Amino acid sequence: MGKILVIGCGGVASVAVHKICQNDEEFQELCIASRTVAKCNALKEKLQNTTKTKITTAKVDANNVADLVKLINEFKPDVVLNLALPYQDLKIMDACLETGVHYIDTANYEPEDTAKFEYKWQWAYRERYQKAGLTALLGSGFDPGVTGVFSAYALKHYFDEINYIDILDCNAGDHGYPFATNFNPEINIREVSAKGSYWENGKWIETEPMEIKRVYNFPEIGEKDMYLLHHEELESLGLNIPGIKRIRFFMTFGKSYLTHLKCLENVGMTSIKPIMYEGKEIVPLQFLKAVLPDPSSLGPRTKGKTNIGCIFTGKKDGKERNIYIYNVCDHQECYKEVGSQAVAYTTGVPAMIGAMLVMNGTWRKAGVYNIEEFNPDPFMEALNKWGLPWKVSENPELVP
Ligand code: NDP
Repeated sequence: MGKILVIGCGGVASVAVHKICQNDEEFQELCIASRTVAKCNALKEKLQNTTKTKITTAKVDANNVADLVKLINEFKPDVVLNLALPYQDLKIMDACLETGVHYIDTANYEPEDTAKFEYKWQWAYRERYQKAGLTALLGSGFDPGVTGVFSAYALKHYFDEINYIDILDCNAGDHGYPFATNFNPEINIREVSAKGSYWENGKWIETEPMEIKRVYNFPEIGEKDMYLLHHEELESLGLNIPGIKRIRFFMTFGKSYLTHLKCLENVGMTSIKPIMYEGKEIVPLQFLKAVLPDPSSLGPRTKGKTNIGCIFTGKKDGKERNIYIYNVCDHQECYKEVGSQAVAYTTGVPAMIGAMLVMNGTWRKAGVYNIEEFNPDPFMEALNKWGLPWKVSENPELVP
């Protein structure tokens, strides 16, 4: 039993909060704190009569360490679950250090003015967390998150050595709009318009954005076009999976999404460089975010499934072996259960699970760790229990 402070109250936080409230044997008290407190209050209102978890709310500016420290000292949580934006990671980590509270997030730090996400800024906190006896669990969403847990699980139970990992993220959901993003548009567009890269023989190989395309026949979905992207878990898995030779990440995109994105890019709407407009400085991508559909409004309209998983190639008892571990999630079923579509659901559920394991001491070691550095078994069990059941298939179709 313990107390959790959730920071942020967007798409992912809403699912995590629903799951925390379902898991009221573990989470005795919850404080939902964000920039717009009205959203926290609305969520509290919706859930407080459905759970034994005692819910409070607060307004906080997560860019301000003093503000965060004040809130943490008042509420005294056992863990802080950061579900605000990647720009706030370091401030929240600072506040956790200052107050002596464990830290969990789902996305690595990214400076607001450069679209470059890397672990180096958060890994630089290792010694300070170690000295303070605190656990920081980085990347407890789906990808990163479950993909790292799948990797640790495959290594523990199926292989002596893993040589190749292909992470496949397929969203076959249709929301009926010509163009919309399934999670925060600013973060999403920064990610997909960046150069691609993969990790091979200890080095990064860079590609042009969307340069490498493959077609894959996804279980329970069918054939989809997918494109190689840079993704943050490649960096940590490249270090943490011994014997690894290559890791790639692919995400599916439909034709309409790509055509719109190209057009928006060509006219400068995806730029993060500030411009002057009618005497005021604006960032084109932030303006674009303001005119696009709010991802949280996509829930009732989105039909279809997601399939996210990892294909592993390696050796067991001297022989080559291939396995595919994946989860299939249905947008409409997620909406029925928690009022959100599957992209938020597949991130919010693992966020709750990671926070639970750190809070109850199952995953507790002093320092800053990526998710694959913990014992995967309790997390895998919890995925089945809390709505993201997974399957293992032997000898799957491989990605050329
Ligand atoms: P949203 O934009 O829907 O939600 C972000 C929330 O953070 C909003 O409630 C926002 O407040 C709040 N916030 C932003 N800035 C501040 C601040 N300075 N102080 C306090 N609160 C703030 O994003 P998502 O829910 O889609 O994503 C949340 C996180 O999850 C992101 O870091 C994203 O990268 C990550 N993610 C991870 C995935 C994974 O698989 N690992 C997949 C998808 C997302 P307001 O309501 O006022 O805007």
